Formats: sequence, C-alpha cells, structure tokens
Amino acid sequence: MPKASLINKLFRKEVLALSAYKVADASGLIKLDAMENPYSWPEEIKNLWLESIKECQLNRYPDPEAKQLANTIKRVNNIPEQFEILLGNGSDEIIQLLLMALPPNAHVLAPDPGFVMYKQLSQSLGLTYHGIPLLTDSFDLDLPAMIAAIEKHQPSVIFLAYPNNPTGNLFNTKAIREIITKAAGLVILDEAYAPFADASFISELPNHANLLVMRTVSKLGLAGLRLGYIAGDPAIIEQLNKIRLPYNINILTQASTDFALNHHSLFDQQTAEIKVERANVHDQLKQLEGITAFPSAANFILFRTPANQADNIFAAIKKQGVLIKNLNPQGGLLKDCLRVTIGKPEENSAFLSALRNGLLS
Ligand SMILES: *Cc1c(COP(=O)(O)O)cnc(C)c1O
Repeated sequence: MPKASLINKLFRKEVLALSAYKVADASGLIKLDAMENPYSWPEEIKNLWLESIKECQLNRYPDPEAKQLANTIKRVNNIPEQFEILLGNGSDEIIQLLLMALPPNAHVLAPDPGFVMYKQLSQSLGLTYHGIPLLTDSFDLDLPAMIAAIEKHQPSVIFLAYPNNPTGNLFNTKAIREIITKAAGLVILDEAYAPFADASFISELPNHANLLVMRTVSKLGLAGLRLGYIAGDPAIIEQLNKIRLPYNINILTQASTDFALNHHSLFDQQTAEIKVERANVHDQLKQLEGITAFPSAANFILFRTPANQADNIFAAIKKQGVLIKNLNPQGGLLKDCLRVTIGKPEENSAFLSALRNGLLS
C-alpha cells in the first residue's frame, strides 16, 4: 500500500478533500430514494427491443457522434433546427465536461439547496463554487441575492434545475429570464424532470445566446442506459465536443435509447400514472399531523418532519423495508427534510404506512 505521504503528494488538494458520492444499498428494500421510474416494459416491447439490438456490432466502435440517436432526440424534444446537441454518459458527464472546459479561476453558481453534482464536480476540478440560498418558505429563487452574486462573482456557468432537485418546485420563470439576461456567462437550465413538469425552456433557446437546456432519459425510465443531452448554440457545443471522449455513448445505449424514444407512448402512459400517484401521495402527506409536504413538479416529494425527528423517522421507515432519502444531514433549508420518490401505488402505500408508524414511535 502506498504511504499517505505519497498519496498526498500525488493528488490535487481539492481531490484529497472530497468524499466520494455515496449511493445507499437498497437490497431487499422498496427503492424510493433515487427518482427512478418504477415501471418496466411489457413483454412484447421487450422482445422488439431485443430484436433491435441484435444487429449491434459489438466488435466495432460506436458512432462517435451518435447521429441517429441525436436526430431522434432533436425530433422528439422539438429542439429548434438551428441548435446543436451534445450527448453525455448521463447528464452528470455533461456537467463535468462543461466545467472541465472552464479556466482554473472560474466561478460556478447555483441555488442552494440544489443538485449535489454541481458543487461536487466544481470542487473536484478546483473551481470556485457559490451556493445561493433559496427563499425559506417557497424554495423559490431569491432574485436580488442571485443578481448580487452574479454581479460580484461573474460566474462562467450558472446551473438552474427546473424543476429543482431536491425541492421539487419550478422556479419563477420571470426570475429565471432575468438571471439569463443579467448573466454574462452561460446559464444551464437542467430539465432532468421535464417528463413530469409540463414546463420547459427549450422554446426559449432562440431568445438567449447564453442559454443551454440539459435533459436526461434517466428520470423518464432509462436510468440504466446513462444518456443525457444538452442543447444550445452550435459554437458552444463545438467547444464542448473537443473535450468529450470520442466514444462516450456506447453502442447499446445508442440503439436502446433510440428504440425507446421511438416508442415514446410507453413513457407517456407511465409518467401520467406517476403524476396521478404524486397527487395522491401529496394529499396523504398533507393529512399527516406534523408533516409539511412541499409542492412538486417532479417525480418525488420533499417533506418536513417535526423538529429533530427526521433521522429517526427515516430509520423507522427503512426498518419497515422502504428506502427513501434523508436530507436532514445536509442541514440549512433541508433540516428535518426527507425526500420520497413516487413509485407504484402499492410501494407508495407501503411508504405512507411506514411513515405513519414512524411518526407514532
Ligand atoms: C438526476 C439528476 C441529474 C443526473 O442525471 P443523469 O443523466 O442520470 O446523470 C441531473 N440533474 C438533476 C437536477 C438531477 O436530479
């Protein structure tokens, strides 16, 4: 084993200071922690899919530009003709690519609480990250604070998740437009939860040269394939393409995502069911004494427990076989907060009864 002194000498100090992104072990548990779609495909669709990947040439490198898939994505998402897209191994990889392209003294800004990878990846690359607190009650953007931070730090990149993770709300659109207009750098609208939101900035791409819209197929129901994309000005996408690894989207992901997006009605049905269940779970949470459930335009719900009970309630729910996400350790606005992903009706019922028991204990 190498000595600690060697490790310390080898690696950048910001890498040494990081902790790895941890994923909880869900074996044997009802998994409502990671915003996955709970539904699989009907047998006949599975068979059609297997048929479609049969001809994939695993001995050959994949198309480095994934042209067929890129065209399908543009068509299915109504991305205006004049914009280019870049595909990533999940949108996580796209966030990393964007940040890798920045100079070492660059600043990155996002609302807080927000998606953890913005901060994690900024820090791993030695960039300066600023988390600007959301408003306490609504989790909406604090526009004056955002504008002040933009003027002070001149961020190269601003990330706005729309809807936001982990709070689930859609930020005020006027505030978003104001931020895009005031920012000299890029503004990334991260629409990971677009399938559940009925709201998007894709149609606003032509209005702002510094706007990029990022999406993923993960939350839609293809988390295992690892495919994200970002749409924006071709001159910006061209720069990102230079640092992208040539074969970042493997052949099975290219073929399978293309197949799935060409059978889009399947997901329309599933997301409609998830949205109905989201309303049901929200109603039931609201009726629980001591619980505050926040409105959600995504496939999860953030809720607050009575003070200082979140850790115990989380553990009690887990003990009853349901894994959700405990956000209380993150503190700040997330103190006493837990987050549940919307699952199948029977999974949601299991969660709700586990929560009721947890509140009593
Ligand atoms: C889940 C999530 C992502 C990551 O998506 P992948 O494509 O699976 O990497 C990005 N942004 C937000 C806000 C998310 O919640």
